[in-house]
Amino acid sequence: MNKRYVMVHDENKCIGCQACNVACRTENDVPDGVARLQVRVEGPFGEMPNLHYSYARISCQQCEDAACIKVCPTGAAYRNDDGIITINKDKCVGCQYCVAACTYKVRFMNPVTRVADKCNFCTDTRLKRGEQPACVTVCPTNALVFGDANDASSEVAQIIATRATYRDKVHLGAEPRVYRIPAKKGGIAS
Ligand code: SF4
Ligand code: SF4
Repeated sequence: MNKRYVMVHDENKCIGCQACNVACRTENDVPDGVARLQVRVEGPFGEMPNLHYSYARISCQQCEDAACIKVCPTGAAYRNDDGIITINKDKCVGCQYCVAACTYKVRFMNPVTRVADKCNFCTDTRLKRGEQPACVTVCPTNALVFGDANDASSEVAQIIATRATYRDKVHLGAEPRVYRIPAKKGGIAS
């Protein structure tokens, strides 16, 4: 069966520390001023002493219906054999069509390589070595879970089947593969 790699971000466990951002930057040589992954922190909400924040993962959503692939004139933006949308750097001509078309506005031009860049779940580095994406590995609260949703025994499949999750802007029809467990007031809990 084809793989369907997904990322789950538990917004209830997240503390907004940005360790995932830093690890991603190091693993993927992402220069300052741009990012493949950030956690957007908003708040505080509520009133003292019951304040809380919200944490949202901002990264490529690995869309099932990917606008970036549709508009790329050279095939540089493509879905690999593992079903992950990534980039063939040698084919990218820097036209930025994918940057303009990205449903979630998370594609960017890498100012060093001059190639369109974004999160690809570390597919050509860590995944190839049988390791988890860098962000998952460093998260101090285990807020990130990654795996093949088509494998019913995987942790991600079980989370999606049993927990309340949501995906960002599903009304846009891109069918994102980043799932989010919404935060409950009160902090870390499973
Ligand atoms: S490393 Fe984990 S806890 Fe820290 S910001 Fe990223 S997802 Fe949230
Ligand atoms: S989020 Fe943007 S870059 Fe990622 S697959 Fe969707 S359209 Fe492409």
